[in-house]
Parts: sequence; C-alpha cells; structure tokens
Amino acid sequence: MPERPDVVVIGSGLAGLTAGAYLATNGKSVLVLEQHDVAGGCAQTFRRKKKWWFDVGFHYIGGVRTGEMARLLKGIGLGERIGFAELDRDGFDTLVFPDLEFKVPVGWDAYTERLVETFPYDEEGIRAVVGVMRSAMEELRKVGVPGPDTDLEEYVRLAPTVVSWGMRPLTELYDEHYVSERARAVLTAQAGDYATPPSRTPVLLHAGLIDHYMRDGAFYVEGGGQELVGNLVEVIHANGGRVRTRAAVERIRTAEGEGEAEGHRVVGVTLAGGEEIDCERVVATGDIKHLFGELLDPEAVSTETRERVEGYRMATPLVTVYLGLDFDISERMPATNYWLHSRYDQEAYYGPVAEGRLDEDPPVYISSASAKDPAGAGHAPEGCSTVELMTWATSDPEAWGVTDEGANGKYSKQESYNRIKDELTEKLIDRAEQQLGPLREHIVWKEASTPMTQTRYTLSSEGSCYGIEVATDQFGPLRPAHRTEVDGLILGGVSSRTGHGIVAAMQGGFECAAVVLDRDLRSELAAGAVFGDSSELTTDLPGWDSLEASRKLQEKSRRVRD
Ligand SMILES: Cc1cc2nc3c(=O)[nH]c(=O)nc-3n(C[C@H](O)[C@H](O)[C@H](O)COP(=O)(O)OP(=O)(O)OC[C@H]3O[C@@H](n4cnc5c(N)ncnc54)[C@H](O)[C@@H]3O)c2cc1C
Repeated sequence: MPERPDVVVIGSGLAGLTAGAYLATNGKSVLVLEQHDVAGGCAQTFRRKKKWWFDVGFHYIGGVRTGEMARLLKGIGLGERIGFAELDRDGFDTLVFPDLEFKVPVGWDAYTERLVETFPYDEEGIRAVVGVMRSAMEELRKVGVPGPDTDLEEYVRLAPTVVSWGMRPLTELYDEHYVSERARAVLTAQAGDYATPPSRTPVLLHAGLIDHYMRDGAFYVEGGGQELVGNLVEVIHANGGRVRTRAAVERIRTAEGEGEAEGHRVVGVTLAGGEEIDCERVVATGDIKHLFGELLDPEAVSTETRERVEGYRMATPLVTVYLGLDFDISERMPATNYWLHSRYDQEAYYGPVAEGRLDEDPPVYISSASAKDPAGAGHAPEGCSTVELMTWATSDPEAWGVTDEGANGKYSKQESYNRIKDELTEKLIDRAEQQLGPLREHIVWKEASTPMTQTRYTLSSEGSCYGIEVATDQFGPLRPAHRTEVDGLILGGVSSRTGHGIVAAMQGGFECAAVVLDRDLRSELAAGAVFGDSSELTTDLPGWDSLEASRKLQEKSRRVRD
C-alpha cells in the first residue's frame, strides 16, 4: 500500500467493501478505513461464547441467481465462492395477522393468485396494484432510471408506469383501486424491510423490494453475513488494497480547487489520533449527517447542501433481540421469516414513532439462521439454534430512558434504559411464543440491541441502519447522488441514491467505483467482464474463518497461497 493511496474508502460495510473490491481489482490502490474493530458494518455476524453466531443485518435477500447480487459477485470473481440457502419457495415470508396467515410464494403469478384467493372481493384492485408494480419493474429493467442525457419524451413513452407511479405513495395506489384495509395490510406487511409508513412509501421502492424476491426467490447467505464480508476483504487484500479496522476518520481535509476549478477538492483524511493520509479521492459510506456535519470542513460545502443534509429525515431504526435456544428451532419453523402483526392499519405503527414513544403493541419479525441454513456450520451448537426477533421503534433517547448523562456511550449503564430495553425484549418474546410455542425455558443466551447500539457500532444518526428514510420526498432524484460538489468526494452507503439493504448497499459501492474509475462498469459487467484474479484468494482453504479474516485488521498481514 503506497503512502498516498489512489482512493480512501470510509467504512467497511458492504458499500465500502464493494467499492474497495471493484477499485482494487481495477488497479487502484485502495485503503478502506473502519472505525470498529471488525469489518462489515451492518452485515456482521457476531459470536458469543464461541457458540452462538448472530447476524446483525443479513436475514434475507433476493437477486442471487439472475439478479444484481449475482452480477456484482461474479464481476469480482466471487460468483462461485459464496453459497446461498434458499428460503421456502411456497412461503419465504409468512405474514401473520390476528385472524389471517398469508404465505408469500416466489413468482409474481403465484403471489397474485394467492392474494386473489385470500381476498376475492378485492380481486380487481389487487390485480391492478400488482400489475402496476410488475410493469414498473419490467420497464425499469428495460430502460433503467433516467439520467441527465435521457430524452424525457422517449422515456415517458417507454416507461409510462415508472413515470406515473414510481414516486407516488403506496396509499395513493391502494386508494385509486379501492383496495380494502386487510388486503393492503397483507400487500404492505414486509414494510419493515424499509420501515417507512405507506403514506410516504414510493410505489417503486415497494415494487423493487417485492420484485427482487419474486423473480429469483429469497435467500440467506450460507454461514451468515460475515462470509460475504470476509470474502470481500480478501478480494481487496489479494488485489493490493488494504482494509484497516480501528481506524476512525475524524476529518476529510479539503483545499480550494486549482486553476479554473470552483469549489473545494479532497486532499486527504485525518484519523482519530492524528494520523494523516493524503489522497485525492474519498468514497464515504458512513452516516451522511456525520459526513457533512463533522467530517468535512464547513467551507467545503455550500450552505444549501449543508441545510438540505441537516433537513433529511432519518429512517425509523430497528431493535433486535438475539436468542440462543437449547433445541432445534427448525422443528417449529420452516425456512421462512414470520411477520407478526397485531393490527391491519399499517400506518398506525408510525404514530408512536412520530410521537417519540414506544409502541404498546409493536410488530415482530422472526428470523432464524438455524432454520434457514440447517447445513451451515457454526450458527449454534449441535441440536441448538439461534433466533432473532426484530421490531422498529423511535430513537428518541427519552423514550429509551436515556438521560443526558447516559449520552456519549454510557447509556448501557443506566437503570432506566436497561429496564425499558428488558420490557421490550420480554414483549417481543411473548409475541414470538404465540407463534412458535414456549421459548423461555429454552433460552440459553439472550441480549438485545437498540437504536443506541446501532449508533455506537456504526456511528449512524438516530440509530438508523437504513440511512435517510426512503420516502417520496427523499427518493430517486431527490436522494443524494454519488457525485458530490466536493471534487474527489464520492458518496456511497445507505443514504446515497441507491439506498439501503444488502444488495442496494453493494450496488451503491459498485456505482461509486464506476464514478472513481470514470468508466461504464455496468456495461462492462453486462459484456461478461470479471475483474481481478480469484485464484489468489485463500477463502477456500481449510481453516479459513470469515470473522478472523475481518477482525483486528490493524495488525494482520494477508494470508497467501503457498
Ligand atoms: C437489524 C437489521 C436487519 C437488517 N436486515 C436486512 C435484511 O434482511 N436484508 C437486507 O437486504 N438488508 C438488511 N438490513 C440492512 C443492511 O444490512 C444495510 O442496509 C447494509 O448492510 C448497509 O451497508 P452500508 O455499507 O451502506 O452501511 P454500514 O453497514 O452501516 O457500514 C458503514 C460502516 O462505516 C463505518 N464508519 C462510519 N463512520 C466512520 C468513520 N468516520 N471512520 C471509519 N469508519 C466509519 C461504520 O462503522 C460501518 O462499519 C438490516 C439491517 C439491520 C441493522
């Protein structure tokens, strides 16, 4: 690694690692800097007592066979190295309401017919709504999103559904087709995947999410999210790049543009502790408010941009309860995710969030790596299993019992915080027991993470793992572009145009690499390009461990094939 790398990437989540992997395999010297001591950000799998492995933010994805995930992995030689376990094709998500259970099958036709069977009186509305989502995605696949050079008249002709519905809220689509409250609840029940109320959810966001499961199926990565992280770290290292953990960037240094150039340009970064690294390109994938509010020199950014960034609404954060159980959960649940809803009015979940209080009756999402990846080693000891229970909730510190003294990381010592966290934990377990039967007497490990935990580990604003809310006023062209007004600063990560989620974060990282390289990487991928030499990787050697490959990277040098 030269003293002055071509590119510094801030953050080793999937966005940063994908950017780093594509840049390194295309000949750039890349230094990825991560403030935490393990690479991976939200995609980490953490271990407890060397027995229990828990996924933070990788529970299921689509697009792994023919979609974006397949393309992105293939392009850096990881196509054959990452295994995916498929969830139940007849019900990868199981939506549970007080008097209704709906299994979501793979395939738009199967999905539509099951919806119509369940809600015969809504047949016309359901077919219209699903038709709009399907057409929008088909159009998008053919013509893509419009760019600055797009002939807009032609675009309107080729993508009429995207233009007419893409940016409008889901509720308008349901209203237009008189869809009943029960049917719209089922159509929207997986909204925890983005945590936006239906009145602000762009039709295209929801359509894109459902479509990426419908076309290929839904999958869990074998061995957990860290497998993907560890492989990406190795791609970077094998191609001359470097990932450093415990390397928090405190400042992005800028200077005035040279010659005719207006504005500021990147000249380097400064780490906590004072180390300075010079570079002309920075791909920033951490929190956007932290980036514009703290990392950048105030004079480097226009007041307009600064105010716009300050004004963005963060997405509603998630809360997770991690359980280690002394029995095999696959006896009680197939390879599905349960979405447990106590009400049909999906908008109502966001009232407590807006009011800064915890919901008395929150929705609960259940995921189990043991059920999804039974052949996968490691998740839990033989005959045991892990389960994650999730919900979404306000980040308001007061609602969580965190007072001023509890800020700055000391919240976890506060009695009020722990009491509230424990109460919510027990509530989620109660609800999970209604679905899965008795769990309490089987719990061997239990812990929970809150919005405060998320901020502590990833430095995200308001504990949000999804970045700025993906909503009608913060979507598509209204979301920050990868190019910024600071020359050499490229924005990646969940708040950038490509958005949040495993696949989107990686797609965003890929787009950042394309901007740095100033090449049409997407067309190159489509033409079959594979960058880098995967025969150099050691990830298939006996004893390779994804967590070991991702941690304490301030000390380790790379493993090489002998
Ligand atoms: C509980 C939960 C469940 C989820 N479930 C799913 C799911 O099932 N499917 C799905 O598709 N998505 C899911 N997601 C979302 C998905 O995990 C994320 O959108 C994605 O991993 C984000 O990747 P990222 O690289 O953009 O951001 P992050 O993973 O947040 O990475 C950003 C990194 O930057 C680092 N950083 C920040 N500031 C600095 C700095 N100044 N210096 C150095 N480093 C810095 C952080 O420490 C972090 O490691 C889930 C997320 C969570 C939290």
